[in-house]
Amino acid sequence: MMNDEVRTKLSVCGLDCTRCVDYENGEIKSLSARLADLLSGYERVAKLKSVNNPFFKEYPLFLEFLHHFTQGSCGGCRSDNLRCPIECNAKTCHRQHRVDFCFECKEYPCDTQFEGKTRERWLERNNRMKEIGVKNYYLEQSKLSRY
Ligand code: SF4
Ligand code: SF4
Repeated sequence: MMNDEVRTKLSVCGLDCTRCVDYENGEIKSLSARLADLLSGYERVAKLKSVNNPFFKEYPLFLEFLHHFTQGSCGGCRSDNLRCPIECNAKTCHRQHRVDFCFECKEYPCDTQFEGKTRERWLERNNRMKEIGVKNYYLEQSKLSRY
């Protein structure tokens, strides 16, 4: 896999866009659509099962989540169709700083980017990319849970 290819898969802050729930061409989206298809009509069975398993009463809520996961519409952090719900300065300021990733920026780690746990994870991702390189980081994180 080429460096350029890896760079388009990762967001500026270091998240894996291609494995994101909101990604328009993601596996979560396509698998959710497949599961929704396979479960078509299961509402009736869920109702029957709810007699002995009360959590099945929440089945309609599960379907709402599943439907949501079939609706991913973000083209990724570097696309013209960026629809990321995360408040992130890097989405725009990386252009001004002429960098692909935060760790490459002369302001890194700037004070304005994220707070609390989100900031900790941003620092972990970027420090790791700096340490082992973007391509190795991509391969390493792809073996871990996205969330
Ligand atoms: S830019 Fe889009 S695909 Fe990437 S992490 Fe944000 S919502 Fe997900
Ligand atoms: S200023 Fe901060 S958020 Fe923006 S690219 Fe640099 S390190 Fe990232």
